[in-house]
Amino acid sequence: MTQTPDILRIRPDDYDPDDMPVERARQFIVERLAPVSGTERLPVLSVLDRVLAADVVSPMDVPGHDNSAMDGYALRHADLAANGATTLEVAGTAYAGQPFSGLAGRGHCVRIMTGAPIPTGCDCVVMQENVLAENGRATIGPGHQAGQNIRRAGEDLAKGGVALSAGRLLRPSDLGLLASLGVGEVEVRRRLRVAIFSTGDELVPVGQALGDGQVHDSNRYSLHGLLARLGCEVIDLGLVRDDPAALEAALSDAASRADAVITSGGVSVGEADFTRDVMARLGTVLFWKIAMKPGRPLAYGEIGTAQFFGLPGNPVSVMVTFYQFVRDALLRLQGRSAEPLPLFAVRCTSPLKKAPGRTEFQRGILSLQDGEWVVAPTGEQGSGILSSMSRANCFIVLEQARGRVAAGETVRVQPFEGIV
Ligand code: AMP
Ligand code: MG
Repeated sequence: MTQTPDILRIRPDDYDPDDMPVERARQFIVERLAPVSGTERLPVLSVLDRVLAADVVSPMDVPGHDNSAMDGYALRHADLAANGATTLEVAGTAYAGQPFSGLAGRGHCVRIMTGAPIPTGCDCVVMQENVLAENGRATIGPGHQAGQNIRRAGEDLAKGGVALSAGRLLRPSDLGLLASLGVGEVEVRRRLRVAIFSTGDELVPVGQALGDGQVHDSNRYSLHGLLARLGCEVIDLGLVRDDPAALEAALSDAASRADAVITSGGVSVGEADFTRDVMARLGTVLFWKIAMKPGRPLAYGEIGTAQFFGLPGNPVSVMVTFYQFVRDALLRLQGRSAEPLPLFAVRCTSPLKKAPGRTEFQRGILSLQDGEWVVAPTGEQGSGILSSMSRANCFIVLEQARGRVAAGETVRVQPFEGIV
């Protein structure tokens, strides 16, 4: 009997103990990146989802004056009897934008509307539902606190304080907050320019008929969506054949026009050798095997001043490696403050196949069952099955050391979509 040569021994699918852990690859990429330079000054209505380039310091207190949080009656707390009712004269009315200009003396109160400045001398607002108002007088029961229902000047934002920090991704609330400060324009970082193309002789653009063994190029479309969400300017260089000269021309063109270049395909075993030769001529590129599924091969480096990400060709791998590595890198280039994606522990309702030794990003559906959020896989988890990404609303992130998961075990999930 002849011995089986090592090379012919069946290895567990795609497993190699020397693969790089996901966290190490992520750290490596982020640590060597610095934000690109360049900012622009824009009106507040144009800065949604842009990255703030400098701290915004509050030029004023917000609110600018102590004001009422309720419709009711402003009074001096000391005028109220500790036990039993008190009747006060109504001296006038304070409206939002139309303060009561008199002085509410002892035994007087002022009818007050929400947002109206607190009249001089008053230190308490009683909501109108707790007041008996008749013939210009207000009768109030015991039990009220000094200071109640008063919004203090500066309690929202204090003059001179940092209202919004550089690096912040500007949200709808921030537009309102800037307006509340009277700020009409802010300095934001320029948009990142990201060049993309797909590689593969089998690829056919949308709109052309497929020949034998050909597939439509879908990766560029997913990448467009991913990059649009991050507010990047996309330079779409289309399709590039598996040909060294064409690849070299496309890469150097892309790198000269963009802050980052993202390609898909051509980095798996075999193909990587050919891509590697081209890269060696153009820049510094590392080829990594990452201990993850899907998305194991990944090329990362620099071509000129551009960051290069050579993603695997499988449509799910493209999206997973984008979310897990490229996203972090682009946020860093955009000057965004570090924001790890949230991971939540939930119960998984089905068993999951998983081999120890690599992090898996399975596609999951989070749903509400009898008042509890639970997760189930989308079904077939092949890296070519893009419909699994479409059906999913989260990744089920299974740690490197973990083995198979039994139904009912707790797993961590990373939702794709937030509240819009
Ligand atoms: P590769 O990484 O180039 O070996 O490609 C792996 C698999 O992904 C193959 O089945 C390719 O046909 C497929 N693929 C590569 N690029 C694309 C693309 N742009 N759109 C759709 N499928 C692709
Ligand atoms: Mg290919």
